[in-house]
Amino acid sequence: MESLRGVRVLVTGASTGIGEQMAYHYASFGAQLVITARREKVLQQVVDKCLSLGAQQAFYVAADMADESDPDRVVELALEKLGGLDYLVLNHIGPSPFSMWTGDVEHVRWLMKVNFFSYIQMAWKGLAALEQSRGSLVIVSSLLGKMPSPFVAPYTSTKFALNGFFGALRHELGMKNSNVSISICTLGLIDTPNAMDKVKGVTNVPAYPSSEAALNIIITAATRQPELFYPWFTYIVTLTKDWFPSVTDYIIQNSYNYIP
Ligand code: NDP
Repeated sequence: MESLRGVRVLVTGASTGIGEQMAYHYASFGAQLVITARREKVLQQVVDKCLSLGAQQAFYVAADMADESDPDRVVELALEKLGGLDYLVLNHIGPSPFSMWTGDVEHVRWLMKVNFFSYIQMAWKGLAALEQSRGSLVIVSSLLGKMPSPFVAPYTSTKFALNGFFGALRHELGMKNSNVSISICTLGLIDTPNAMDKVKGVTNVPAYPSSEAALNIIITAATRQPELFYPWFTYIVTLTKDWFPSVTDYIIQNSYNYIP
């Protein structure tokens, strides 16, 4: 963790949940931070706490990732404030209903902008700076980006898109002997207020602590590992889900309290 003192970090979706917890961990390791999300007042509070925890510097920028120019603007501002970038941690997600798909294509289009297009835009904008610093690009994804599940079709599709895109980009960077590492983080259910609100009474799948998830993401990035699976069994699920597809489907469809 000593190696994180003074590192320059941009964390998205840091007003709450796992992003907020990552900001606090980075702060307590003495990093220099720029955080972003939409709600300015909340971001200000997170920045204040980061400074009190030991961040060398902490700034926020309010931005809406559905806006086509905001992803670039946020990276530009981070580069200007921090003078470069060591970690670009892409973590934000737009709100999406936990319900059966009812044909709202417009919502999927919007969610793709927030959860996918803004990620690739920010990654491209930050890549040269990461190359210079031998930095890391961190993509916070989900088990639902490896295995489709009911009630979250729009969300699942954005996570599959991220895994596909950044998996391909990682090959390309490797083939170019790039300095930049890409860590793709596969998370199971984490106890953030937004996630808990959605699944309350619907599933008995255990939720894991957001602070620990955040720390695992930070360690994965700092050690330049290509993948994180947290909690550990998400790795087993990813490996075994295709061995007996009908058993997997049965388990998935019966792990929710759903009455037709
Ligand atoms: P939260 O819903 O708690 O936080 C989402 C963050 O994104 C907030 O800071 C929110 O702030 C910001 N945000 C929402 N919409 C926008 C927008 N249009 N533009 C910019 N920022 C926006 O998410 P979690 O902490 O639960 O999840 C974090 C990551 O972990 C996500 O990538 C998620 O997919 C992944 N993950 C989470 C799991 C879980 O169970 N919690 C499970 C698997 C993966 P604001 O409202 O201020 O904009």
